[in-house]
Amino acid sequence: MHEAGIAESVIVAVERRVKSGEIQGRLRRVFLRVGTLQAVLRDNLEFLFGVLSRGTLLEGVELVVEPVEARGLCGGCGREFVIHELWFLCPACGSTDVALVSGDELLVAEVEIE
Ligand SMILES: [Zn+2]
Repeated sequence: MHEAGIAESVIVAVERRVKSGEIQGRLRRVFLRVGTLQAVLRDNLEFLFGVLSRGTLLEGVELVVEPVEARGLCGGCGREFVIHELWFLCPACGSTDVALVSGDELLVAEVEIE
């Protein structure tokens, strides 16, 4: 499952930073920015994180998923717009020359320590 793999990667990445001493203190929450193009089920991801983190250094830590809306930038007319589907055209000029500005991210934005 997509969400289980993501939860696992977050646990491994944060555990590594705790072990290396980069993160010190008792973790409370981990904030994860997830682009809407990742098509992640937010509740599912938060739930699986709770299950998979049992027995790890992240046991009891809350995962907070922060959705990042997908945005495109048109190379034709320079307009920036919100992307609602995986197949996108510029709504202003119809160009397919669109660069993704945001929406495919998957990164730990912040950790909160007690
Ligand atoms: Zn355009």
